[in-house]
Amino acid sequence: MEMICITCPKGCTLKIEQNNDKLIVTGNSCPRGVVYAENEIFHPMRMITSTVRIKGASIARCPVMSSVPVPKEKMFDVMKVIENTTIEAPVQCNQVLIHNICDLDCDLVATRTLKKL
Ligand code: SF4
Repeated sequence: MEMICITCPKGCTLKIEQNNDKLIVTGNSCPRGVVYAENEIFHPMRMITSTVRIKGASIARCPVMSSVPVPKEKMFDVMKVIENTTIEAPVQCNQVLIHNICDLDCDLVATRTLKKL
């Protein structure tokens, strides 16, 4: 298997072989490539960026993001909560809108300030 390490702009092409529970990673220019490959295969995480419905602002949806990466397999659970959420203006950029979303030790944070109309 091959994957591109996105930990830094160099973008090394990692070649990965699996031998039982152990990974053999080559093509990495530094040790972070091995950590990246292990995380991607055994515990992939992703930042979430999306929008939530907002009432009383000049636009209909407020851009949001997760405060930390969440397990890839939980992304749909988080997106379901986001889809069912409506907030009220005003909202400040970096304001926490949902604490500990889906019990993932992650907050949902506004990424734009929206004033009340
Ligand atoms: S292996 Fe190291 S040098 Fe290569 S992209 Fe990943 S972090 Fe950058």
